[in-house]
Amino acid sequence: MKKLFSNVILTFLIIAQTFFIFIISNQYIYATTLEKKINDKKILLTNLNSKLTNNSSTKESLIKKLQSTENQKLKLSNENIKLKNKIFPHKSSTKFYIANMPSEKIAYLTFDDGPSKNTIKILNILSHYNVKATFFVTGSSSKSSIDIYKTIANKGHAIGNHTYTHDYSKIYKNVENFTKDFTKLQEHLKSSVGINPKIVRLPGGSNNTVSHKYGGNTVMNDITTYLIDNGYTYFDWNIDSTDASVKLQNKNKIVSSVLNNSKKKSAIIILMHDVSIKTTTVEALSEIIEGLLKQGFQFRVLSPNEYTTQFLRVK
Ligand SMILES: [Zn+2]
Repeated sequence: MKKLFSNVILTFLIIAQTFFIFIISNQYIYATTLEKKINDKKILLTNLNSKLTNNSSTKESLIKKLQSTENQKLKLSNENIKLKNKIFPHKSSTKFYIANMPSEKIAYLTFDDGPSKNTIKILNILSHYNVKATFFVTGSSSKSSIDIYKTIANKGHAIGNHTYTHDYSKIYKNVENFTKDFTKLQEHLKSSVGINPKIVRLPGGSNNTVSHKYGGNTVMNDITTYLIDNGYTYFDWNIDSTDASVKLQNKNKIVSSVLNNSKKKSAIIILMHDVSIKTTTVEALSEIIEGLLKQGFQFRVLSPNEYTTQFLRVK
């Protein structure tokens, strides 16, 4: 009986041991498979990582190639313009180009040359009447100017490029100089305000003759062609407030220049200046807005789709 009992115990122990060995070996097989899987994934990740590094360096070299192609394109397009102007100096020039005539009476108030000490005063008057305007700004990297650019944009007014330096002797020497100065302001506005204006006002207007002194009588043809070819719209004006005719124009003269000349027109782009010394422009603004409202005008900001008037159009 005792022997039988010990035999049963022994058999049970052998079975238990076999079962235990089976479980251990199963776990070992599972662990080995898992380790193999982890190793495979590691190899896959290393491969992916090296592929990604390769991709980013390919992307960088592609961007560089693209930039140099863009530069070559610009150079060739400028040479092309020069050649065309030599062969047909004035043949294709058209004066007073007009586009997008609105069906309602629309007034576009435009302020050139800012930011200045007057900008905030101008903005406050515009806010009072809930009127939006267009500011053709020049370049300034001071913190106060950058704040002004931002305020103009945040209040829903339009910002246009009026060149960085506004220096006729530099920008009108040749189209390359113009492009450099113009692009400097585009990049400044992009990095400091986050905008990329598509609207332009050329200092002195597109038909100015001061440029002839620095770049000859075809430089404006080259510049306006460059702007059109690169997707920009330049705007001249059909109402001069005369605030730049003298150093400090009489306030009443500014008001009457605008309100008398607007009577027979349905779309008006009004030239005014945002320059610290020109305080009478600020003083005239309320009367101008009220007078135009009485004449039935609505106010809008300039954009490539709005009413356009250009004194010189080659293309
Ligand atoms: Zn100007």
